[in-house]
Amino acid sequence: MIIIFINIVILSLIVAYFLLKKHLDNKRLQASYAARLNPDWVEILEKKMSLYKVLPADLKELLHGHVNYFLETKSFYGHDGQEITDEIKVTVAGDACLPVLMREDPIYPDFDTIFICPDHYVRTEHEMIDGVLDQVTRKSVGVSWLNGPLLLAWRYASYGSSNKTDGQNVTLHEFAHKLDGENGATNGLPILRNDEDYDDWNVVMTKEYANLCERVDSRANKVLDKYGATSPAEFFAVATEAFFEKSVKFKKRLPDLYQLLANYYELDPAQWHLDYREQLRLERQSLRS
Ligand SMILES: [Zn+2]
Repeated sequence: MIIIFINIVILSLIVAYFLLKKHLDNKRLQASYAARLNPDWVEILEKKMSLYKVLPADLKELLHGHVNYFLETKSFYGHDGQEITDEIKVTVAGDACLPVLMREDPIYPDFDTIFICPDHYVRTEHEMIDGVLDQVTRKSVGVSWLNGPLLLAWRYASYGSSNKTDGQNVTLHEFAHKLDGENGATNGLPILRNDEDYDDWNVVMTKEYANLCERVDSRANKVLDKYGATSPAEFFAVATEAFFEKSVKFKKRLPDLYQLLANYYELDPAQWHLDYREQLRLERQSLRS
């Protein structure tokens, strides 16, 4: 009888712990979103994150809340002598939060560590080559470990963030892998909102991945980087980079894939780019008159 009683007490304490943790997490989430983003950090976003410039005002506000929460819940560590600065943290947070702009649940809940190295991350791996175990040296500009940390080479993350139209943004790429892995496997199929979305995803992704593999070096492929032909997981990450950065061309050339990603991210970046171009045109016009 006493043992049953003790078990019930222990179970109750465990449940109470998790309920309290959830309550505190929710409080923290609300406080981060309610707090104003530090003006110095807004300045960093304006200076470093080129996609920030094209964001509509209401989405900038949403991004600020996510950046606050992201910086409160993620830890940055320098690797290979890299010093961690506010510029690095805020720039990475800005790009990382773009794909999850419309999410209401805690963002990127499965990991909390981000390593930053100055240049390529070089690692040695063991691999079977022609039946013989060999050592292979690999260089990466970013790595996302499933349910584990994420690594970015600052030189490339910085350049990728500063150019909003070349379709190269390693931060967007690695965080797309993080979203992809939320269901326990990095395979190009993230968790979708509705059951009926999976059929569409399967049809469109399979078709467009096959198209890229077929035309990888042809002039017909002007939107997606050929690295996307490596695997369905890389295809999703590469398509995410292009979706945000080459969105006008993407929407025109690959409308089905664009719509699929627009539904998934609940965003229409092509419209941001068009509105921004129009805004620049009107500003130039008013300066001339
Ligand atoms: Zn990748």
